[in-house]
Parts: sequence; structure tokens; C-alpha cells
Amino acid sequence: MPYSTNEVRALLAKKAKYELGFFPTPLHRLDRLSEEFHVDLYMKRDDFSGRNLFGGNKIRKLEYLMGEAVKSDAEYVFTYGATESNHAMQTVTACRRAGLKPIIYLTAVVPVDEQDIRSNLLLDQIMGAEIHIVRLRPGETEDDGDARGEALAAARSKELEEQGHRCYNIPMGGANALGSLGFVEGYVEMTEQLAAIGREADYIFHATGTAGTMAGLDAGRKLLGAGTQVISVNVSPKDDTYRVRAAALANNALDELGVTDVRLDPETDTWQEKNFYLPGYEKPSPESTKAIRYLSEQEGIFVDPVYSGKAFAALLSWLRTGKIPAGSTVVFWHTGGATALFAEQEIVGDFYQKLIYED
Ligand SMILES: *Cc1c(COP(=O)(O)O)cnc(C)c1O
Repeated sequence: MPYSTNEVRALLAKKAKYELGFFPTPLHRLDRLSEEFHVDLYMKRDDFSGRNLFGGNKIRKLEYLMGEAVKSDAEYVFTYGATESNHAMQTVTACRRAGLKPIIYLTAVVPVDEQDIRSNLLLDQIMGAEIHIVRLRPGETEDDGDARGEALAAARSKELEEQGHRCYNIPMGGANALGSLGFVEGYVEMTEQLAAIGREADYIFHATGTAGTMAGLDAGRKLLGAGTQVISVNVSPKDDTYRVRAAALANNALDELGVTDVRLDPETDTWQEKNFYLPGYEKPSPESTKAIRYLSEQEGIFVDPVYSGKAFAALLSWLRTGKIPAGSTVVFWHTGGATALFAEQEIVGDFYQKLIYED
């Protein structure tokens, strides 16, 4: 038997939570694109999650993670990401709100230019986080760099604990069962908003990186017994084991809620779109560059080159090729990240257009 939105909310209410964002985030129709593609296209605005202009999808996860951190009397919070990590920046924001001290380990996928610090790394600095940059050594891959950062953090955390300071560790992307609860809640929130206008989603499109968001949405969908397909668009190379991991994470999130009678099967309960991440993580693609420009020209809304632009490119492709039938109700989940438009040129991509000089 599926659960009702109220029943899921009651289960979520038993978990420790620290209020960080402004919810519900808006859900609104994209009129021009809906007309063009003969569908009802809505956008779920988690870019407006708060606490400032630079929100995003990590805020939902952090409400549950910080709930636990505060409950455990932590003084320091550790987390990880790439140099321009949205997750790390939002974690720093959350720490400042909760009065905890943020320590972040950032793998320098794109090298830091000390003379021209930008975007999220600039915001991390403004908020006074303790920032460790893990520069890749010759022959080291990004994964090696991440692993080295985590080992260094473990040593630093041990040292602090020995001095009597309690530390709380948040994994990269906030991608664990507790964090995913934020997107179980997000799924319920969206369902309530659509129900209020007499609709249910046929498709949801969103960008996926660490699978935390995907797991939460998939778990929420399964709990409510919705017939929706949640299309998770990869932003980095992933094989089919990604769906297995996402389903396992979703099931762990259900365990957190004490739900035992609903289980996800990766074959039938997860969907993965792998064809839009190239040329790689934090590297703009011609399709995402076009999608960013198209959405901004059609609707005045910005998506970003690393995540939401690639997911939006996937959605446009599905719409243009008729993979989404006319008359469908479609939700694009805007996960935030537009600060990347103010990052290094190699992240932003090429939006050059000839300026008209009036000398
Ligand atoms: C982190 C992030 C995602 C991916 O979310 P995961 O839960 O890590 O899969 C998508 N969009 C943006 C803007 C992000 O920062």
C-alpha cells in the first residue's frame, strides 16, 4: 500500500532537523516552453532554497545532516568537494547559521588562481571557512585526490577530538541516507504543490552527481506509489552500478524512516540518462552551453554549466525527439549551482557574442 503525503511527513517529523532554507520552494510553469513542446513543463526552484541568493539542492540534505550534527553537540563540521563545490559552500553556510565551525577539503580539479578567486571559493572565504586545497600530484586522479583529502581530514578530526572538540563528518555531496531524507521531503513537497493544481508529474528531470538527490526522489516516488519517471542525468562518467548504488541509498533512507514494507529495485525504480556529461565533470559541453542560453533567452532563467545545464540539455533533447509524449506533465528540478557562471572560464564555457561599441 502506498503512503500518503501526510504519512510520509509524519515519519520525517520524527527525525532531527535544523531549519536552514525557505520551503516550499516555488514550483511554476514555463509557459513559452510548454507551448513550444505541447507539454506542461514546470520548474521546481531549489535554486531558491536559501539562505541567500546562492542556495541549491544541498540545503534540503543539510537540514537533516545539521540536525544530527547539532544533536550530537558537534563544534566542527568537516566536508569535501571540488574547488568550486556547491555542496561545500552550502555546508559552510549551514554551519554559520547553526554556529558550528566549517572545515572543508577541496580537490583542485580546476587549479586555484590565488590572484583571481571566484564563485563558491570566494564565498567560502567570505564566510571564513577553514579551507584545505588538495592539489593533484603528478599521476594522481581526481578520485585519488578526494581519497587523500578524506585521509587528511580524518587525521585533523582525530587531533581535534583528542583536544576535546567534537567533530561531525558530512560525506561529499551530503550523500548518505540521512541527507537523502531531504529529497524524500522534497518529493512530498512537489507532489502537494502539483496536487493543488490537479496534476501529477509524468516525468521529473534532475542532475545527479553523488546520487543523494536521486535516491531521495526515487524513495519519495516509491513511498507515494507515483507513476512518475524520475530521469537522473549524470554529470560525470558513471556505469550501470550507479543505479544499484542509488537504489541501495534509497533503501537506506527508507530504513532511516523505519519503513520496511517498501523497497526499491534498481531495474524498475531508477532511471539514468548517461549521454550528457561529456566532456566530463566541470567541463562545459556544447549542448549544455546551448541549453543555458536557450532557457535564459526563452524564460529569463539561469541554469549552470556543471549540473543543471546538462540536465536541461537532456530534457530538451527528450522533448525535441518526442521521447516525451505531447500532453505530458514534466517537472525540471532546478538544483541550483548558477554561481558556476561566475567561475573560471574553463568551467563557464563560451558565451562570447560580439559587443556593439558606441565610441
Ligand atoms: C550537487 C549538485 C547536484 C547533484 O546532486 P547529488 O545529490 O550530488 O547527486 C545537482 N545540481 C547541483 C547544482 C549540485 O550542486
